[in-house]
Amino acid sequence: MTQKEFAGYVRIVFRAAFVRPIQVAFRSEPGSDRFRRNFLPEGLVPTSAEDRERLREASRCIHCGLCDAAAIGVGVSPSLVPLVFARTAVELPLAGRELALLLARPELLEVGERLCPERVPLVRLARWLGERLERVREAAAEAA
Ligand code: SF4
Repeated sequence: MTQKEFAGYVRIVFRAAFVRPIQVAFRSEPGSDRFRRNFLPEGLVPTSAEDRERLREASRCIHCGLCDAAAIGVGVSPSLVPLVFARTAVELPLAGRELALLLARPELLEVGERLCPERVPLVRLARWLGERLERVREAAAEAA
């Protein structure tokens, strides 16, 4: 171990043993409360384990557009579900009308799923986004 590495190790131990406990003792509110205060007004809701799983599924989309053939003339494209709506919770409220349209016509998403070469679960993703949108709206109402 070099002298520089040893100094770094001592610094880490000092912070863990003395500085961090003092910071925690004088903190006025828990971290989860600060998170809520800072991020909920912007629509940034906490990411759950299910959110991570659905995001992994959405990331399989290769933007080929084949699923959009299932909804020609409907006014909304199924590929928006993984490509746009799943991207960020902050902008999800802007997609409320299109998402509601797709949720009301799940058969379009089912046909899109059958056409999808990557087997992206469009129905499951749309339902998850509907629930996520509710969480975002609740968070915004709570923060107001
Ligand atoms: S068919 Fe599948 S991979 Fe292609 S755009 Fe639609 S969801 Fe994405």
